[in-house]
Amino acid sequence: MEELTPVEVAVIGGGFSGMAAARRLREAGRDVMVLEARDRVGGRIWDPELEDGRTVLLGGQWISKTQTRMCELGEEFGLTQFTTARPGRSLLHTGSDFAPIPDHLPADSELDKVVAEFEAMAETVPVDAPWKAPKANQWDGKTLYSWLEKRVSAELLESMTVTIMGYMSQPEDVSLLHALFYTRANGGFGSLFSMGQEDAHDTHVFEEGAQRITEGICAELGDRVRLNSTVFKIFRDDDGVRILGEGFELRAKRVIMAMPPALTACLRYDPPLTGMRNSLTQRAHMLGRGLKFILMYERPFWRDAGLSGQMLGTQGPVHVGIDSTPDHERWAVLAGFVEDRGAGREFLDMSESDRQKSIVEFLVPAFGEETRSFVSYHEHDWGQDDLARGCVTVFGTSAWTNYGAALREPVGRIHWAGTETSTEYPGQMEGAVRAGERAAGEVLKVMPAEC
Ligand SMILES: Cc1cc2nc3c(=O)[nH]c(=O)nc-3n(C[C@H](O)[C@H](O)[C@H](O)COP(=O)(O)OP(=O)(O)OC[C@H]3O[C@@H](n4cnc5c(N)ncnc54)[C@H](O)[C@@H]3O)c2cc1C
Repeated sequence: MEELTPVEVAVIGGGFSGMAAARRLREAGRDVMVLEARDRVGGRIWDPELEDGRTVLLGGQWISKTQTRMCELGEEFGLTQFTTARPGRSLLHTGSDFAPIPDHLPADSELDKVVAEFEAMAETVPVDAPWKAPKANQWDGKTLYSWLEKRVSAELLESMTVTIMGYMSQPEDVSLLHALFYTRANGGFGSLFSMGQEDAHDTHVFEEGAQRITEGICAELGDRVRLNSTVFKIFRDDDGVRILGEGFELRAKRVIMAMPPALTACLRYDPPLTGMRNSLTQRAHMLGRGLKFILMYERPFWRDAGLSGQMLGTQGPVHVGIDSTPDHERWAVLAGFVEDRGAGREFLDMSESDRQKSIVEFLVPAFGEETRSFVSYHEHDWGQDDLARGCVTVFGTSAWTNYGAALREPVGRIHWAGTETSTEYPGQMEGAVRAGERAAGEVLKVMPAEC
């Protein structure tokens, strides 16, 4: 067992949140060490570079202009943004064939009405304490699905489900209160659910991949980042914490846990965490199985036919497809998601090569014969990834009202970061950065008294 030199603050998790926390602490002159289980930083952001210089964005990629910390960091590390809001026809697949999605819905449509009602409800949910909303108990006791089911036709519910899934969860799994909180904290239903449109939440992408930001911070921190360092157990006493990892031990005054709540529950704690915290982490589960794929082409041929490259599939297997071609067009990209729903389920169980063939064949009627002429195919199943276990965290019924207060509340010398703890853009890279910086601020506030 290697005994590492003690530090003031240990950060567990080298995703956006952990790296942002460590950077803030380092800037404040603190002795910090990041412990990351993977052989890379970035966490749920993973943008490997191929030998020929192409970059494959396999995890989170979209930001918006309102996500100011991500924009600032991108600029600081010299990254270039492009937009995926592309002109042209987008397509909807409802089980048999692809049909164009109308550009504009008629005013006063069924969708408009339900969105207006939802937005008005969301306005009453405090993002820093959703359990204090006037109707918190009522809304946390039902799922988003049971609320929507009473308001919209089965057909609209199906097409809404596919976009809701892309950002948050299967509507059957998520508490209505969480859906309201999440939507408000992410800028509203309109922007959140209109991916690819110019006024939407997710419009811009870093050409080089957002992971370059975490790698840049890693280079600044040097030997203060320890990769391949899985943490198993945290002991705490009056002096600080003792962190037990795979072949190492580290003492620190305080520790910041920078990972999804469900993954914090995979560690052991001595003394144990509070009952509130343990109950929360069992109800704030990962969305689970979900795969992102990338098809690379020589050129964005679908644009010749007036197509935007965007598609939604209510029955799967591909639930979302989008043109993610960088502006330089040295290569073209169709990015897509296969979710654990409908025909997607079967696809997630296939071998990678069978899945690749099936995805391409599914997309041929949408984009044409050239779909078969891809240069390369890449995928990552985030549900199967032991250190992610899915893309986003879902709060089930009664999680917020019964246990929400434990989300950010430190347990002794253990502080909680991770995108899920953010009150602004939770679930996004932006939320991860803001949460990391908030947790670092929390530690800095209490540290002067101790040192
Ligand atoms: C497919 C996909 C698409 C997404 N799309 C977008 C998008 O378009 N835009 C957007 O903003 N966000 C998107 N997201 C979400 C975004 O990736 C996350 O919100 C963000 O990266 C979370 O950062 P984090 O630091 O909070 O957590 P993570 O990135 O999960 O970092 C946690 C880190 O902790 C490490 N870890 C876990 N357990 C241990 C342990 N025991 N010991 C040591 N280390 C450990 C993990 O390896 C990981 O590196 C997407 C995510 C996925 C998977």
